[in-house]
Amino acid sequence: MSGIVILDEITAGQIAAGEVVERPVSAVKELVENALDAGASIITIDLTEGGLAGIAVTDNGCGIAGEDINLAFQRHATSKIRTASDLSRVTTLGFRGEALPSIASVARVIMTTRVSGSVLGTRAEVQGGSIVKVAPAGCPAGTIIEVKDLFYNTPARRKTMKSSTAEGALISEQVSRMALARTGVRIELRTQGRRVFYTPGTGRLIDAIASVYGAQLGKEMLKVTAADGNLSVEGYAGKPSLSRSTRSHLTIIVNGRYVRCPAIVAAIEDAYRTLLPKGRKPVAVLSLSVAPEELDVNVHPAKLEVRLLEEERIARLVAGALRSVLRERSVIPAAVIERRYKNHRQNYDQKAFTQVPALFPRESGPAPLFTRTKQEQEGSVPVQVIYSKPDNAPVLAQQEGLEENDIGKLPLLKPLAQLLPTYILAGSGDGLYIIDQHAAHERVLYEEFLAGQGKHSSQCLLVPVTLELEYRETSILSELVLWFTDAGFIIEHFGGNTFLLRGAPAYLPAGLEKEFFLDIIDYFKEKGLIPGRLEFMERLAASVACRGAIKAGETMSLSAMEALLHRLTLTENPFTCPHGRPTIIHLSKRDLENRFKR
Ligand code: ADP
Ligand code: MG
Repeated sequence: MSGIVILDEITAGQIAAGEVVERPVSAVKELVENALDAGASIITIDLTEGGLAGIAVTDNGCGIAGEDINLAFQRHATSKIRTASDLSRVTTLGFRGEALPSIASVARVIMTTRVSGSVLGTRAEVQGGSIVKVAPAGCPAGTIIEVKDLFYNTPARRKTMKSSTAEGALISEQVSRMALARTGVRIELRTQGRRVFYTPGTGRLIDAIASVYGAQLGKEMLKVTAADGNLSVEGYAGKPSLSRSTRSHLTIIVNGRYVRCPAIVAAIEDAYRTLLPKGRKPVAVLSLSVAPEELDVNVHPAKLEVRLLEEERIARLVAGALRSVLRERSVIPAAVIERRYKNHRQNYDQKAFTQVPALFPRESGPAPLFTRTKQEQEGSVPVQVIYSKPDNAPVLAQQEGLEENDIGKLPLLKPLAQLLPTYILAGSGDGLYIIDQHAAHERVLYEEFLAGQGKHSSQCLLVPVTLELEYRETSILSELVLWFTDAGFIIEHFGGNTFLLRGAPAYLPAGLEKEFFLDIIDYFKEKGLIPGRLEFMERLAASVACRGAIKAGETMSLSAMEALLHRLTLTENPFTCPHGRPTIIHLSKRDLENRFKR
């Protein structure tokens, strides 16, 4: 090691930029925050190649006086606070004076700006963190900041960037959330010159929601309001039917700032818990106001998280407000929801067991249907151990090891009983097997689906389903449309971001086509990459399997168990479900003998 030195400005700038400007979306966030802090009522964001090649943010805010331009690009130079004590009541989005110098140290920046009182504005070019050219310029009041070739001088960072589609998608999500947080501002996002979305700036949250997520979704939102002393919550919560597979449509705004707030997210999800199927996330936009001193905004390098001093009280208020809205309107009471999903499952079972058998080898004969007693259909099955009746108790083979009609990797399994009722107890010549019914069924459906690839027939929907996608979803769909078509979806472009789903694969349960479709899109949106055909099909297969598989706790008849075990035997990998959890455990004859000391 050599001696200690103070790093030069550029190096120090690049290091700091690593925290503030991680990817194009972070630069966009900072620039839009500056525009909002400048009091702009109209903000336009233009992207080239997902922001990697260019970002331009135009605002009609207060502008920067010519003599201040130099300062704006210096570290810790800000017009927003003066002393540390101001931090406790900061109401602007920025306050550290770090964004502009950080961005300027990793990109080429041109700023054109005019304060409304002066006749001429200023144009400044910044390179490698320092201003290389300043000149007077004629321009509208406000500021245009152009950022080009992000990370051109930090090749390692540049290499970690995703595709421009994926980076653009992250930006679209961020800007939509900022637009939801500032409904009084007209915000427009464009990419390659094309409008992605536009909020009207009416000051009404519902208008912003409708422009960002589509009018159709806007209609399914319920208004939420609640207050407790100096705390208040305002916003909209989606009906449970709007659920998504990720939290992409869950936005929390605190004092006009979009933030991540795990405790509040948990409170929201808790309020929805009995209303949504497992793994589904609600759609909601909630705006909280708290006294500025109740909020610490200076806890995260990119200001993505805040600390709420009275987090618990706020979480209770939010959860209470949501619960009352979700009940009072009796959107769909928990019990009805349960039945609704049950019904879907019943439709599905029939399909799975009447249509899927085509995927089996012929010799297995017609697969028995899941049979349901009247009691089961009414959903009042007591949780209990079900013993098979003595007269159809299977006689277990005496010999050890595989039996002659064993197929595949498992011995011939004879179901004995269902336990809890989540596990199938099955016997073979080699002892006792305990099978997780859900995991096993998932594996079966997963493999059957993949084996039937290319043979998935479509079914026309009686009423086409309208899909209003967001920009990033549209771009993902445009990349995946071929494979969706391959899988049996019939999709028609209606114009803009609207599509019609005219047909869906026949294996999908009726009524769930749209949810299913959006799940797949959400999944790849979240992952940020466009899959190959195989990965796409595997994802589809896993979704089909997870949705379609019998749940833990559902009673099965002996013949249904037999059919399931038979189909499990036919799979390539009967031992784990598509998520890698075990499907089957074994208590061998030897284990039993040891335990009973025989
Ligand atoms: P911060 O926002 O934390 O103050 P920045 O580095 O983002 O720090 O910006 C530095 C200063 O430049 C701001 O305090 C503000 O005075 C000025 N500024 C930046 N962007 C704009 C803009 N779009 N309009 C007017 N002033 C701006
Ligand atoms: Mg700023």
